[in-house]
Amino acid sequence: MQSSLIGKIEKAKRYAQETDRITFSGLSVNFRGENNNYTTEYKDGKWHCSCRFFASWGLCSHTMALEKILGEMLPEAARATQFELAP
Ligand SMILES: [Zn+2]
Repeated sequence: MQSSLIGKIEKAKRYAQETDRITFSGLSVNFRGENNNYTTEYKDGKWHCSCRFFASWGLCSHTMALEKILGEMLPEAARATQFELAP
């Protein structure tokens, strides 16, 4: 293998451990809930979700789950949950 590519692979392995290097500017996922599938997005500085709960509350189990999964890889504004999510 080319030595330059080997160097990149090594760097990628290191970067993969250093998740604070990464901040999502936007994302879109298909979220398989217990009863239905939803589209959950972070776009233009705001969360969006196609579930009914989100429409009333502006957050939901899907957005909160993504906050918990992605943690510090989300921009500050996306980590708006005012309460501590239990482990
Ligand atoms: Zn939702």
